[in-house]
Amino acid sequence: MKPSLMRSTPVLLALCAASAFAAPPHEHGVGRLDVAVEHGRVTLLLEMPLDSLVGFEHAPRNAVEREAARAALAKLHDAARLWRVDAAAGCAAPTVEIGAGPIEAGEHGSHEPAHAHDDGDGHADAEASFSFECSAAERAAFVDTGLLESFPRLRTVNVQLATRQGQWKTLLTRPMTRLPLVR
Ligand SMILES: [Zn+2]
Repeated sequence: MKPSLMRSTPVLLALCAASAFAAPPHEHGVGRLDVAVEHGRVTLLLEMPLDSLVGFEHAPRNAVEREAARAALAKLHDAARLWRVDAAAGCAAPTVEIGAGPIEAGEHGSHEPAHAHDDGDGHADAEASFSFECSAAERAAFVDTGLLESFPRLRTVNVQLATRQGQWKTLLTRPMTRLPLVR
């Protein structure tokens, strides 16, 4: 083994172990959503394989892929279509933050992934946060969602909720379009 490999291997192993510990294995078609309802705010954190977002996980290589990336990012930015929080909560339009690694970089003409979460296997995830300021967040009983409609390659979303009622897990699958926020 070359000295350079001997030096780098333990570091790589440590990184892989840390990454495997931090997140479940990335499975195409399966996303993850964390929903928090707290005083004055409803927050949704979405993570999904780029494959489920756009059908590939590398920087766009041609005009067709660049257009696919542009369209997918536009859908991810379209908070009004993705999430409609129960009107009883009185939420304003959310603040949206998106990290989509290689496909964002491609859009900006750079080859350097900006916020890529790359698990080292050639896979990459998209992450998006939607933060709603609400006058009565605790009154939100549900979120209507167009997520599965917007992203046909997404089959299942593992949802974790945290509200005044505690924390629990649920699944979002077709044909569901409403995510309950109460138990
Ligand atoms: Zn992947």
